[in-house]
Amino acid sequence: MKRLILATRNANKVTELRAILAAADLDVELVGADAYPEIPDVKETGVTFAENALLKAHALARATGHPAVADDSGLCVDVLNGAPGIFSARWAGRHGDDKANLDLLLAQLSDIADEHRGAHFACAAALALPDGTERVVEGRLEGTLRHEPTGSGGFGYDPILQPLDESRTCAELTAEEKNAISHRGKAFRALVPVVRELLG
Ligand code: IMP
Repeated sequence: MKRLILATRNANKVTELRAILAAADLDVELVGADAYPEIPDVKETGVTFAENALLKAHALARATGHPAVADDSGLCVDVLNGAPGIFSARWAGRHGDDKANLDLLLAQLSDIADEHRGAHFACAAALALPDGTERVVEGRLEGTLRHEPTGSGGFGYDPILQPLDESRTCAELTAEEKNAISHRGKAFRALVPVVRELLG
């Protein structure tokens, strides 16, 4: 069985991609970056989701000698010309402070009317081989931004993003419901033919 590394320490992402690969009947052993604690995290110095995903996938493939997948994602707001984008995790200045990021974004958009509150989550997923071969796929979840956070599930900007054709925010969906429509779910499912091509 071929080993494939997913460049994340987030167990939920590993579970989600593992289920997608298994459903596609791919004979691949997926492990997270936690299986290689000696390998340092890669700096996200790219300026697009795709560049950052490729940086992480190449670094892990080189370091482990195994094919590696990495994803990078964020929220893109229409009226902010795609921001926070690659800065989503540190929009308020401190990496990973979800509440501060969300509060700042809501304050910035406080005067923006409903019809101009379009936004999407974007995800790039990259697959790299130790020999330098690379592929990138992308997925999006389109929606609109609420004026107030609603719901207790999910993370990040989930409480303010209401997907198109939904009356609930992402934070009110179950994990299964969100994975079925999410940017990451779409990007991971788009990886299936790529994994089949390069590892199959
Ligand atoms: P990462 O690339 O998965 O680490 O995501 C970067 C940042 O984008 C996160 O810290 C969140 O602020 C935001 N983000 C990405 N995906 C989601 C999502 O599915 N829901 C809410 N926020 C997200």
